[in-house]
Amino acid sequence: MRDVAELLATVPTGLWIGGEQSPGVDTFAVHDPATGAVLAEVADATAADGARALDAAVAAQAGWAAAPARDRSEILRRAWELILERRDDFALLMTLEMGKPLAESQGEVTYGAEFLRWFAEEAVRVNGRYTHSPSGNGRILVTKGPVGPALAITPWNFPLAMGTRKIAPAFAAGCTMVVKPAAETPLTMLALGQVFADAGLPPGVLSILPTSHAARLTDPMFADHRLRKVTFTGSTAVGRILLAQSANRVLRTSMELGGNAPFVVFADADLDAAIAGAMAAKMRNNGEACTAANRFHVDNAVRTAFTARLTERMRSLRIGPGHLDDVQVGPLITAEQRDSVADLVRDAVAKGARVTTGGGYAPGPGWFYEPTVLDNVPADARILREEIFGPVAAIAGFDGEEAGIAAANDTEFGLAAYIYTADLGRALRVAEALETGMVGVNRGIISDVAAPFGGVKESGLGREAGTEGIEEYLETKYIALP
Ligand code: ADP
Repeated sequence: MRDVAELLATVPTGLWIGGEQSPGVDTFAVHDPATGAVLAEVADATAADGARALDAAVAAQAGWAAAPARDRSEILRRAWELILERRDDFALLMTLEMGKPLAESQGEVTYGAEFLRWFAEEAVRVNGRYTHSPSGNGRILVTKGPVGPALAITPWNFPLAMGTRKIAPAFAAGCTMVVKPAAETPLTMLALGQVFADAGLPPGVLSILPTSHAARLTDPMFADHRLRKVTFTGSTAVGRILLAQSANRVLRTSMELGGNAPFVVFADADLDAAIAGAMAAKMRNNGEACTAANRFHVDNAVRTAFTARLTERMRSLRIGPGHLDDVQVGPLITAEQRDSVADLVRDAVAKGARVTTGGGYAPGPGWFYEPTVLDNVPADARILREEIFGPVAAIAGFDGEEAGIAAANDTEFGLAAYIYTADLGRALRVAEALETGMVGVNRGIISDVAAPFGGVKESGLGREAGTEGIEEYLETKYIALP
């Protein structure tokens, strides 16, 4: 394995502004959640740094938009290659600052890099249309162009992919971008800045500003008339604040917000497949994913068997620092996150849920929580309403298809849902009835670079990836012709 100290010594820790590293006036510490130890001190961006980055983005915008799509595409493709060349460094860095097992970080390198390749391919396929007015007295030309300078605010759970899923379509469309990564995991994004510098990205097109004071940095940017777009992945609570700020200046917004994904197992489901899917949907990324199965609604005809088998699988998982061989569950991101998972479990148990495995902190020094299964979780338990973001499976029973659909839809969120059934008719009926942006049918992992990712209801606005993703960064212009 790559030597940790050696890797950390090579990671950029300054701000990326105008294509260069800049030290910033202050620094803040990045911690390893497996030990609590300080990994690095990184530059702490201020409002003045935000203004400089926006100046650079605005200065670069016209040239970047006018650059041949093929040139933008080639830079994205080169960046994809460079990430893959540096795959082991990126994987270890993510495990160190975020905590997920190394195998999962390797998976994120592939997935996160793939957005660069996908949008390198999309960059050269932005089309308009040409048509005639129905009245016969005019022609209609419709063109697409970049929205303009964009601000991306990203979370800590997928330090690479949540950045590339925004940066790649923005660059493909011809937008410049200022990225504010999560304070918990800035190192991966700073390493990505090096990739783009090495790939020949023109100065100013990308700035990366870690900060310990998010609002201090971004509030003035929201007030600056030169910013045209905000793209955010994070909690619904913060999304609401950013939407309100965006309203002042009528910014284009893309919001990937919280989830509360139901995992619905019908009586006719293949239980082997359902258990495998449940483990993937629940435990991927330590359970810290907005698409994570948050609540298991299981037909009472199969609930006892499902619960017993899931319990057995969850109990067998190995917990530990993510960089160690064979570890399947790493630490949670912070002590606060671990405590909030514990609170949800306590509330459910107080209301009558039964713990079949886990249910407590795992030995530290880091922020570990045991893989946990709760059965018989009552409808009023907070764990069925709130995003868990941890390795806890909450199981509730239902009787029959309609009750399963009703339980799944009983939430203000609408990001992902998973259903398990052997009946194609039922799969289609239920998938259509679910109020979510994404539905996995007999699949526990649904994210795909070629598919539109996003939610309905309070889970967000807009779509990332797929052929839809680039639209978020394009404006439509109508040119009327005689
Ligand atoms: P999480 O619960 O995953 O940490 P948050 O919604 O709190 O999600 O944070 C997601 C991102 O939003 C992070 O980069 C965080 O720094 C940023 N953020 C939080 N509050 C604000 C704010 N008021 N203005 C701008 N960015 C914010």
